[in-house]
Amino acid sequence: MPGVMIGVDVGGTTVRAARVDDLGRIAARRAFPSHAEEASLPADEAFEQFIFRLVGAIRELLGGGAGATGGCVVGIAVPGPVDTVTGTVRRCTNLSFLNGRTPGVVIAARTGAEVALMTDIAAAARAEQVAIGAESGRFGHLRFGTGIGYVEFEGATAIELFRDGDAHLEVLRAGSAFTYPCICGLSGCLEAYLPSSWHDEERRNWSAEAAAAFETVVFRLRQRLGGEGVLVIGGGRSTADRHLAQRIDGLAAEGEMPGQARVRRAVCGDDAGVLGAASVARGMLEPRCARL
Ligand SMILES: [Zn+2]
Repeated sequence: MPGVMIGVDVGGTTVRAARVDDLGRIAARRAFPSHAEEASLPADEAFEQFIFRLVGAIRELLGGGAGATGGCVVGIAVPGPVDTVTGTVRRCTNLSFLNGRTPGVVIAARTGAEVALMTDIAAAARAEQVAIGAESGRFGHLRFGTGIGYVEFEGATAIELFRDGDAHLEVLRAGSAFTYPCICGLSGCLEAYLPSSWHDEERRNWSAEAAAAFETVVFRLRQRLGGEGVLVIGGGRSTADRHLAQRIDGLAAEGEMPGQARVRRAVCGDDAGVLGAASVARGMLEPRCARL
């Protein structure tokens, strides 16, 4: 495998970057704060500082100076929706200086590397998919982080999921029997029953409604994926929230259910973002090598 793979996971507070070897192991790491030191910096300057640090981290990971980045692929995962055709960050709530920018295009121009931009959940899903050896067939990843995300693949191909404007995904709504209003403007979203404000002690005590909404959404996802499919559930909250953690362990311990995907717990932990971003970037490189 020619070239070098680097994965970058842009988090709300820290940017983590790693060089990943051919076997998918992390060979070297770098990290720096996501925000500009002065939070009051204009967006242009904040973006420039972000790019400057990221280029520096990439060069350090390559162990060389300028010009050493030929044959390098970089995957960048960001915490918000992206336009993968133009490489534009659509909306990063916590890092607004990235909104409407094309960080991948800028990094490519400054380093000579090939760069792929993706959402953090797409990157994490790819890492989990590779880690459990589910690279063919139907695969879904439900992720409980700052928000609740879901992505689905058929092999390496992402499945387009229906979303009503900027509202939560249709597949993450529990149905008409669930009427809690959600911040996205709809009702019955899993996010409304297990909101990001889960730090609130009251919310951490699972209500019967929250448990029912979780069970309903997971059941539907398992049916969508079918008997040959795999649903991996992960994200920081999936282990930090006791109720959620117990329920996921229970689902993972279940035997096979006819017509339903089996449930597995995520295994990549905090490295899912960098590993997945590098893996997606590697996927970009492979078809080109095959043509040579
Ligand atoms: Zn919603």
